[in-house]
This record gives sequence, structure tokens and C-alpha cells, in this order.
Amino acid sequence: MRYCKKCIMPATRPEQVFNDEGICNACLTVGQKKEIDWDSRKQQFESILSKYRSDGSKYDCIIPVSGGKDSCYQAIVMRDKYNMNPLCVNHSPCELTQVGRENLEFLSDQGFDIISVIANRKAYREMVKIGFFKLGDSCWPEHIGIFTAPVRVAVNYNIPLIIWGENSQFEYGGPATQSENNFLDRNWLEQFQMLGHRISDIVHDGVNINDVKTHLYPSDEEINRVGITGLFLGYFESWDTMRNLKLVEKLGWKRNPEGAVDGAYNDFENLDCKWIGGLHDYMKFIKFGYGRATDQLCIEIRANRMTREAAIEAYKETSEGTLPNTYIPDFLKYLGISFDEFTDNMDRFTNKSLFERDEDTGKLKKDDNGNLVRKFMPE
Ligand SMILES: [Zn+2]
Repeated sequence: MRYCKKCIMPATRPEQVFNDEGICNACLTVGQKKEIDWDSRKQQFESILSKYRSDGSKYDCIIPVSGGKDSCYQAIVMRDKYNMNPLCVNHSPCELTQVGRENLEFLSDQGFDIISVIANRKAYREMVKIGFFKLGDSCWPEHIGIFTAPVRVAVNYNIPLIIWGENSQFEYGGPATQSENNFLDRNWLEQFQMLGHRISDIVHDGVNINDVKTHLYPSDEEINRVGITGLFLGYFESWDTMRNLKLVEKLGWKRNPEGAVDGAYNDFENLDCKWIGGLHDYMKFIKFGYGRATDQLCIEIRANRMTREAAIEAYKETSEGTLPNTYIPDFLKYLGISFDEFTDNMDRFTNKSLFERDEDTGKLKKDDNGNLVRKFMPE
């Protein structure tokens, strides 16, 4: 396996690009960020905001919130630093965790109004099923809903400005043409979030499109009527997850009391959904050879908080690459499937070239705990 020379991201990450020196595009972004004239970006931001800012008698922007450290930070700075009057919109995840609930309450206690969009569980479950069995990602509907729900609320409430957080395509590397883009629109959503499966495709999977309204992106006509503009805050001020964490923690925001979720390195990310912290990341691992711990340790290296060597050592202590046992029983119950059906599907999505197989049968080898035997390790 080939790894980035600076961080520990493998070449198997989709859309991964290495330069001639073997450095990945996300690591190169760090250098680019230093070149950016952040003062002028801030002025640009101020001038945009001044066109939307209200006197407080009505909401003037939408902040999509999961209740995580970054979205809580967004809401707080948009109000306290930029003097805006946000309405927070939360798309309820596949299965909300206790700490996720408490952090949404934290945000509410900070004085924010929050609209929670809770898709009907019956159709949502069908979409999780499609995500899991057809696309190899149990959280497929969540990836879509977090982007459609705030836009739908924006249209319904007539609030044209939506402030998103970081542009993941810029921060973590994506197609070069999109990474400089500071807008989030239907095109961005379809290109980066839907795994090639549009919401209209689910009709062929037997789901009634009228049952998943929360997941439909508003029509162009609606978008134009309200004049929706979606901006990434990370385009206008340098994105720093530790700064975000510090600010919200000081105010009472909670890390996961149970420590890092399965497969992760830190205890302060992806806490709101039971299937994201664990299953989604594990499925990423079996398909692409890396999961949440790799992502998080790469961020530590790029921020100069950790050397590459230390990250490799820390990686070995994480549970990345082992079955996310904490949530599997709940997930089986949620979908009404057996452990064998679960395992068969996992095997179907596993990149066979990354893991040991039985020479005679060609079947994937498993250890005593049912875990795959990997052929690679960051080095
Ligand atoms: Zn790198």
C-alpha cells in the first residue's frame, strides 16, 4: 500500500492525488491555506453579510447543525462575531445518540432556536437499507438529508442565506475544480454526497418518492424565488477544528463520555449518529483501507500537533479496521436482518485485494473475533 509521505492517508482513498514527491492533495492544502489573504476574505464575507443582516426581528441566516463541535461553533460565531440572527436547522440522523441529544440541548441553552427535521422512520429505514445493501454505506440518507433539510427550511421560511461549515473538498482533497468553490448547490450535493445514486433512483428500489420529501432538494424555481445562497464559513475564515472544540467546550459542550467511538482516534467527532460513528466508517475501511482514525490522525499531523511517526504509533492503538461491535446489535434490530446477512453484505463490499483470503476457497480470512486480516499498515 502506498501512503502519503507527510500524513498516513493511503492511495486507495477515492480521488486521492499525490504530487511528484508523494504528498497528498489534503496535505498540500495546508500550504495553500497559508498563502490565502484571509483579511480580504473576511472583508468579502462582511460585505456579503451586510446585505442579509436583520435588526433581530427575523432570522437572517440558516446554520445547519448536527450538534457537533463544528456546527455549534458556526452558530456561535455567526451570532456573536458577525452579529447575525441565525435559525439553526438540525437534520435528525439515522439513530441519534444520547450525547448527540445533549449537545443539541447545549446549543439550545446557548440561546439558539433550532428546527429539527425528523424524516419519517419508515421510509428512512428503507433508505438506510438501500445505502447498506446497494451502495455500501449505511448512512447514505444522512449524507443527503443534512444538505437538503436546511435548504428546504430556508425556502419555507424565506431565509436566503445558508452558512455551511468547512468545504470538505478543499480541506481534505477533492477534484481540483471544485475545491476552490465557495458555494454549495445542487451540483455540489449530487457530485460529492450521493454516491452516484440520486434520490429519484429510489423509486426503482420500491420507495415512494412522496415519502422522502425531507430528502428532496428544492426545485430551481423555489431556490430562485428565495434567492438561496449557500456559503462555506471555511472559505472566509481558516478552518481549525481544535479552535472550534476549545470554544464550545468552554461553554459546556460534551465529548463522548464513552471515549472514542469504534474505529476512531479522538472522542469529539461524529458523536450524533450511531451508524456513522462505527458502521459508516468501518464500511469505508473495508472498501478503501482507511477509516475514521486515519482521517483524524491525518488532521493532527497536518496541524503539526503530531509527527507522522507518533501518528503511526497512535494508529496501532485504535480499533480502526475491527468490527464496530458497540452498535452492530442495534443496527441488526433496526434493519431487521441477521448477523449472517450483515456479514455477507460486508464481504461483498470488501476490497478483496486489501485483505488475506483463503488460498483454496478464495474466501476472506477472518480472525477469532470475526475481523478481516489486513495486508497493510501505515508505515
Ligand atoms: Zn497527506
